[in-house]
Order: sequence, then structure tokens, then C-alpha cells
Amino acid sequence: MSTQQQEVFVFIGPPGSGKGSLSGLCVQKLGWEQLSTGNLCRKHIAKGTKIGKEIDFAIKSGKLVSDGLITSMVEDWFSTEVQDKTVIILDGYPRTVTQAKDFNEYVKSASDNLKLHVIRFSLSDDEVIARLSSRYICKNKECQAVYSLKSDSSLAPKQKLQCDKCDNVIVRRKDDNKNAVEERLKVYHRHEKELLNFYKEVDQKIDEIDVEKPLNQVFDEFKRVVGLEKYDCN
Ligand code: AMP
Repeated sequence: MSTQQQEVFVFIGPPGSGKGSLSGLCVQKLGWEQLSTGNLCRKHIAKGTKIGKEIDFAIKSGKLVSDGLITSMVEDWFSTEVQDKTVIILDGYPRTVTQAKDFNEYVKSASDNLKLHVIRFSLSDDEVIARLSSRYICKNKECQAVYSLKSDSSLAPKQKLQCDKCDNVIVRRKDDNKNAVEERLKVYHRHEKELLNFYKEVDQKIDEIDVEKPLNQVFDEFKRVVGLEKYDCN
């Protein structure tokens, strides 16, 4: 990990709440770095690695991958990828108290120059289900850009079923089917309260953003909440 002052934003929110989309905007507009543990898992599965074979079933059925495996993937990423990046978004990690404790320990041992921000995305279950039923993702595992086929969505692709960024085909995610979505929501609610309680116990501030609105407005609210109004969204 770098010796410069670093900031890590932990995005906590239900599936489909736009953690990945907001992270994408922060990468594009602010030059930040994003680690999506879900994207990392899907890359392993697509490449058919040993880890990919181990986690394929859990992902398809909407269950969590083991804490140990996810934390070691995150720590590997930090030690190999982070280097000079000063602002990092953790999109989908930590998701359990065990992961949050392990990550806090890792951060303490790796750097005394790191500030943690926790952002909670609030969105109703009905809206989660509506969003996930029209969500598409770029098939290219190096891209994985997220789209919505809702006609009024700001996330609609410019060309039908084609990624705006890399021209690959966009597809449904294997875990965006009804059963897996129900399971993922159940899993999310089971862990969310404990996770937020843990951060309160360790005096970690939690900022909440309402994500039930278009992405550009979510980005504006995010910038306001974290004191970055000076950055222009356009
Ligand atoms: P996501 O793309 O964030 O919706 O994650 C997709 C799936 O990857 C989840 O349903 C889990 O199976 C797995 N996954 C991603 N992040 C984690 C994590 N922090 N802990 C455990 N499993 C995870």
C-alpha cells in the first residue's frame, strides 16, 4: 500500500442500489479507483480459475462467498493494484462484520495514513426488484459496465444490447433471476444491521444517501455529503 494519505470509501447498499454505477462515475469524473468484489468474483468464474470453480455455485444462487476467501482477494488487490491511488472505493466489501473487522485490522497494519468513509445507500426492496429485472451487464469481464433496459433510464445503452464503452454484447447476470435476487436481498438484510452496528461501535461515521433517483442526482448528493461539491458532473 502507498505511503501517501489515502481515502477508502466503503459503499454499503442492497443489490441493484447503484453502488457500481456511482463508483463508475467517481472513476470517470474524479479519477478514483474502484474495487468491486462482485466483478472480481465474476472474472475468476469466467477465467475458470480454482477460486472461480469454488465460488460459482454460491454466486449463481445469491449466497455470499466465504469471508476468508473474499478478504484475501481484497488484500491481494490492495497489495498489487493500489500503489499511488489516493482514493479507493470498495464496492460490495465489506459485507459482513467479520469482513469489516478483518479489513479494519488490515488497514491498521498496512498504513497509518488512511481515512475510511462509510456510505450507506438506501433503496426500497420493491425498487431493487424493479431495477434488477431490467439490469444488463457488459459480457466483457474486463468491463462489466452496467445498463438498464428501462426506456426512461439514464443507464440505457446507446445501441440495443451493446456496451457503450467497449462495444461488447450486454447480457443478464446469472444471479439477477427471481430466486437469486430474493436470496441476495435476504442475505443483505441479515448482514446490514450488524455491519452498521459494528461501524457505530468503533465510532466510524456513516453517511447515508438516498439512491431512489437518477444517477446524476445521486452523484450530486454523494458529492455534497462528502464535501466535494466543487467537482462538476458533466
Ligand atoms: P455484487 O456484484 O456486488 O452484487 O456481488 C455478486 C456476488 O458476488 C454476491 O452475491 C456474492 O456471491 C459475491 N460477493 C461479492 N462481494 C462479496 C463479499 N464482500 N462477500 C461475500 N460474497 C461477495
